[in-house]
Amino acid sequence: MNKLTIQDLDLRGKRVFIRVDFNVPLKDGVVTDDTRIRETLPTLRMAIQKGGRLVLASHLGRPKGGPDPKYSLKPAAKKLEELLGKPVAFASDCVGAEAEAKSKALKDGDVLVLENVRFHPEEEKNDEAFSKQLAALCDGVFVLDAFGSAHRAHASVVGITKFVKQAAAGLLMEKEIAYIGKAVSNPTRPFTAILGGAKVSDKIEVVENLMKIADAMLIGGGMAYTFLKAKGLPIGKSLVEEDKIELAKKILADAKQKNFKFLLPSDSVIAPEFKADSPATIVDVSAMPADQMGLDIGPKTIAAYKAEIAKSETIVWNGPMGVFEMPAFAKGTLEIAKAVAAATTGGAISIIGGGDSVAAVHQSGVAKQISHISTGGGASLEFLGGRKLPGVEALTNK
Ligand code: AMP
Repeated sequence: MNKLTIQDLDLRGKRVFIRVDFNVPLKDGVVTDDTRIRETLPTLRMAIQKGGRLVLASHLGRPKGGPDPKYSLKPAAKKLEELLGKPVAFASDCVGAEAEAKSKALKDGDVLVLENVRFHPEEEKNDEAFSKQLAALCDGVFVLDAFGSAHRAHASVVGITKFVKQAAAGLLMEKEIAYIGKAVSNPTRPFTAILGGAKVSDKIEVVENLMKIADAMLIGGGMAYTFLKAKGLPIGKSLVEEDKIELAKKILADAKQKNFKFLLPSDSVIAPEFKADSPATIVDVSAMPADQMGLDIGPKTIAAYKAEIAKSETIVWNGPMGVFEMPAFAKGTLEIAKAVAAATTGGAISIIGGGDSVAAVHQSGVAKQISHISTGGGASLEFLGGRKLPGVEALTNK
């Protein structure tokens, strides 16, 4: 990577501002899933080991314009204390006198967590004065380890970098950039992209960008039906984005012209209603009844996609193949998860992003076999879509 990373920094005796992603789910003031906190531990441990004085900042949820105890980072700080096995101080505001005093009281290896940066509307406005106030809490060194926020030009991600001497990537950031960056710039081939989920509109840039880079694309989920309709096939009551049909036609024509392997489902698991107990049957995509909807890919499609996955050396997957939250329509997604895991065991590199596909690999028990599970759904989609992430761009060049 051509950007400074935490490994390059001399942190002894210095207050280092680390932007982490502690946007964790809470219930009754307790963290219910600490994955995001755990993911950043290697960076925090390295900063501690280097003798830095850690000032941690994050957002949590979407508080509206001011402090809201519901979105306090205090439970996350408590969880961090447990995970690190050492005391963690807490400042009840991310800027101002208390935060300054507490940051100055830190000794080498000490940790301070600041309250939710989104309690100040200036955070999302990337406000200069606010960024400067944040930067005043460190001694010229900033580390970004919040990959999930790297696509946001916010004060604690981008603004602050103007007011420090060194802005470096943390270890989690470095790993995300290494995996996804290699897939989009220099993939080991064949490279297969698997895209699913509800909407085409969320993934157009990814489809278009990956068509330039990948060797094959497998489409599933609700978004498949907009493409099937664009091909003139009956889709019954399936999810469709009418205003994207023309675009879908253009993508299909492009794929044909370039001889690009763009695979759509050949059969679907269908039901009359979007309900877990709606009676499911399997039909070829050419035979979809008008009063039913497609809720998963069918067995022929699973077999065809599996064959493609088995041949791949790089696999990027974002979005479920069906309504996997309902057991009757989960098979496609779970089978694809297993196929991706098997290919990985056989030597392929697999990258999975997006909350639902990540949940699916956990559900099918194969998460450990995946090469890289991205922590940032939105950020990974923008990266795969060929966009530069503002958080990465703002880091100091080596
Ligand atoms: P996304 O957030 O765009 O990745 O979409 C994920 C959602 O798409 C999940 O909640 C799935 O239940 C839903 N989904 C997947 N396949 C279908 C389908 N065929 N019809 C309707 N919704 C679907």
